[in-house]
Amino acid sequence: MEAAGEAAPKALILFGPPGSGKGTQAKLLKQALGVPHISTGDMLRARISSGDQLGLEVAGLMQAGKLVPDETVNRLVRDRLAEPDCAGGFILDGYPRTLPQAEVLERELAGRGFDQVVVHLKVDYTIIIARIAGRRQCSLCGALYSLASHPPAVPGRCDHDGAELVVREDDREEVIRARLEAYDRQTWPLLEYFSASGHPFHEVNGSNESPRAILDRIRGLLAVG
Ligand code: ADP
Repeated sequence: MEAAGEAAPKALILFGPPGSGKGTQAKLLKQALGVPHISTGDMLRARISSGDQLGLEVAGLMQAGKLVPDETVNRLVRDRLAEPDCAGGFILDGYPRTLPQAEVLERELAGRGFDQVVVHLKVDYTIIIARIAGRRQCSLCGALYSLASHPPAVPGRCDHDGAELVVREDDREEVIRARLEAYDRQTWPLLEYFSASGHPFHEVNGSNESPRAILDRIRGLLAVG
């Protein structure tokens, strides 16, 4: 992505269960590499906040921890990738999540001349459930906090803009379990697809180390392909 002499811009696909730290790593990588962070979850939440037709259609599914239909997210991502800031590469967080999404993306990236690299963040589910229960998000800028490992300086307030921190509607424990089930059923099978795809595929254990240490490991892997 930033190394000299690379042939094509890269699509970095961050893959892993909900709560694996994909969003955190994507934000750190965005700063480090200077490429856009494309989160389908954030895009869908923005549509819900704006109250448009698409937002109304997906709100119930998301609040129940279910996946949004493939055509809806495929269209959102396709439109986003056509924007000029994506021309030099980008980070995908939360997409693709199903086999049909992966197949659409494969064609889209090949058509646009992007090499793809997949990084799989592996984290134990017991750690995930504890982590998500302590997760808070800024209601204004979307910054993420963890009550255990990265608390805000002022309780309940964002360090960047002072706005209120909230628990995401789909971070409640029963919803987390539904999201992990959806991951096991629909997203986990993608690992086989990625490992057979012939594109670089890396696994990173995201259970124990700090976000910075995990970032360094991902950057090390990206440097080799
Ligand atoms: P997490 O990875 O922690 O589950 P996200 O913000 O990526 O959080 O996703 C939140 C919700 O948004 C998902 O549970 C799902 O309802 C919806 N969503 C996001 N990305 C996709 C996708 N690629 N396909 C279908 N649904 C999606």
